[in-house]
Amino acid sequence: MFQRVRMLIVAAVAVAAAMALAAPPASAAESPVYSGRGWKAYTAKGIYSISPDPYTIVFASEAGRDRLSPYLKKVAAQITDVTGVQVTVSSTIVPGPRSSCSDQPRHEIRFHYKHRPVEGSWASISYPCHAAANGSAWGGNVYMNSQYWTVDNWFSSNDTTNAAKQANGVLHELGHIMGLAHVNYDRDGDGRIEDGECVRNSAGRRPVMCAPSGGYLTAANSGRYTAEFDEPGLEQMARNYYLRQESR
Ligand SMILES: [Zn+2]
Repeated sequence: MFQRVRMLIVAAVAVAAAMALAAPPASAAESPVYSGRGWKAYTAKGIYSISPDPYTIVFASEAGRDRLSPYLKKVAAQITDVTGVQVTVSSTIVPGPRSSCSDQPRHEIRFHYKHRPVEGSWASISYPCHAAANGSAWGGNVYMNSQYWTVDNWFSSNDTTNAAKQANGVLHELGHIMGLAHVNYDRDGDGRIEDGECVRNSAGRRPVMCAPSGGYLTAANSGRYTAEFDEPGLEQMARNYYLRQESR
């Protein structure tokens, strides 16, 4: 017995020594990651990472600022918690339609509040820009459909569900600007990727970045990115900024 334990210890020490020799520095071993369970980088829009430099949210109108600021303040704090990147919700009004990405101020995210911004649809829409130099999120414009708030029970006759879905809509569009894409996939294997076809946790919860928006539906967690899907995505996107520099 004693002999056997001693041999195991010797073996363990030998393995540890071999690993110490073989293992390169941790940073060099880690590569950027662009998708995971319930999250996906918006590489189709040229976004591969979140920059460490602060981002500022501004508004196209006072009505939009008054309506959307509470959601954005809450979730900006969550993004900062998760990524270490400062996201500030200002009270600044910048009126007018969106500019093209070539004129978009760096790290400014502008929220518009409009009646049906997408013709023939009830959707909201975002226009993310990227930094050409390094593929990080640059900022951009979001148009929230004001009907989510102006029409009673737009999402649900259950007040809690309705309020949670209003918040999730805001989070979803901001998520696009920060570089997260839709996570829908052909879950039922019928050859089509459909609305709501996304990974779920054991409670049936979908990522905020599902289309249409998933996310928490409870009052307690309403207005937060999901801990199991969206949060790890945001965290990895911030890490990618450094990993992409190292891998050059
Ligand atoms: Zn979307």
